[in-house]
Amino acid sequence: MINQELLNIINNNNIIKFWLMIDKKGEDDCWNWIRGRFSSGYGQFSANTYEGRKVMRSHRFVYEITYGKILGGMQINHKCDNKLCCNPKHLYIGTQQDNVDDREYRGRSGKSKLTTNDVLKIRQLHKSGKFNQRMIADMFKVHPSQISLIISHKNWSWVV
Ligand SMILES: [Zn+2]
Repeated sequence: MINQELLNIINNNNIIKFWLMIDKKGEDDCWNWIRGRFSSGYGQFSANTYEGRKVMRSHRFVYEITYGKILGGMQINHKCDNKLCCNPKHLYIGTQQDNVDDREYRGRSGKSKLTTNDVLKIRQLHKSGKFNQRMIADMFKVHPSQISLIISHKNWSWVV
């Protein structure tokens, strides 16, 4: 179900432009917003609509055009903790508290759950070619996007 109401006020050119502002990777990877950001760190998308200029957080926009209108008071959270990510599969709707709970659960609030040894092990497992990212993610009880970031050296880049 897509948000027809939003699509009606935003013309197709804007939708095409929107997707050009995202570094789209594999289906389970993070798709980073590559243009302007809000000071909060979220991607900033502004579109000319039939109702005038509309400025939105890019991950909220992608959520709405993919899954439908976001109800008042709800927030769109990232499973991957990457504020710039616009992969709809990494987004879920929830409350502020859900987001805090999830970060605690994943141990991302300050201290990472993974150790340096884990990171080395993850890269070894991946190199062996015997396990895909999802299998490795299950072993370490993290989201596959975390594995992807570790393998591509975008996270833990100092561990070699
Ligand atoms: Zn992501």
